[in-house]
Amino acid sequence: MNGSALLEGRGVLKRFGGLCAVDKVDFQVNEGEIVGLIGPNGSGKTTLFNCITGVHEVDGGEILFKGEDITDDQPYQIARRGLARTFQVIRVYRDLTVEENLLLSRQWGEVPTIRSFTRADRSLHDKAAEIADFLLLGHHLYDKAGILSGGQRRLLELGMTLMPDPDLILLDEATSGINPTLIETIKDRIREMNGRGLTLMLVEHDIRFISDLCDRVIVLNYGKKMADGTPDEIKSDEAVLEAYFGDDGGSDDA
Ligand code: ADP
Ligand code: MG
Repeated sequence: MNGSALLEGRGVLKRFGGLCAVDKVDFQVNEGEIVGLIGPNGSGKTTLFNCITGVHEVDGGEILFKGEDITDDQPYQIARRGLARTFQVIRVYRDLTVEENLLLSRQWGEVPTIRSFTRADRSLHDKAAEIADFLLLGHHLYDKAGILSGGQRRLLELGMTLMPDPDLILLDEATSGINPTLIETIKDRIREMNGRGLTLMLVEHDIRFISDLCDRVIVLNYGKKMADGTPDEIKSDEAVLEAYFGDDGGSDDA
């Protein structure tokens, strides 16, 4: 077992009309862990990330980060506490360069204007360059993000989460739609970041990706937590297999 709880959810509840998208979920992410969050399409994974990061107001329960209650915080406040995320749909500024995208992400919750990064201090430029190198984007530092492949944009997005030196990052399908070579790169970089002390929570469809990387896996089904254990425990859990491969389950690629 790794360190103490960095992120904790207690009875997290989120409804959309009559639908309970996240149904009283208890979970914990410990310092230093890589935790997978899996479940069939529509099981509430993205909604749970949205609750954690303040994109959605929860309808019940509480969320603690570093032992402090962040349930009612705004997204920028949560980001400032050291919790970063990516989105299922890639969000980079295609008309800005790789460097500009990285510098802008640093401004999260501050004054995100174009002018602010033209005056960004030297160390931030160095940091952007270092992160771009780390993610194999160094040769594209001054290219517009719009020319990057989908996989490279995923890497850039990962870089944008790293700029503010977060303690925890949540990645929502960071490998969807990208080629196998880049998937290996992302896997490798995630391990490296974790080795440097970063804690991660990952939503992924690829069970192999999850079991290669994660210390622990949380499984959602119809908004409820159905399992929580090591990758081996999850892979031999009858209820999980049924949800994934049973008649009305089925893994999804949406
Ligand atoms: P997952 O990420 O596991 O595929 P989601 O969290 O996106 O699932 O969705 C969980 C459920 O909540 C789905 O039934 C989805 O249709 C519904 N849902 C998600 N976001 C909204 C929203 N903004 N408004 C209404 N329903 C939503
Ligand atoms: Mg999703």
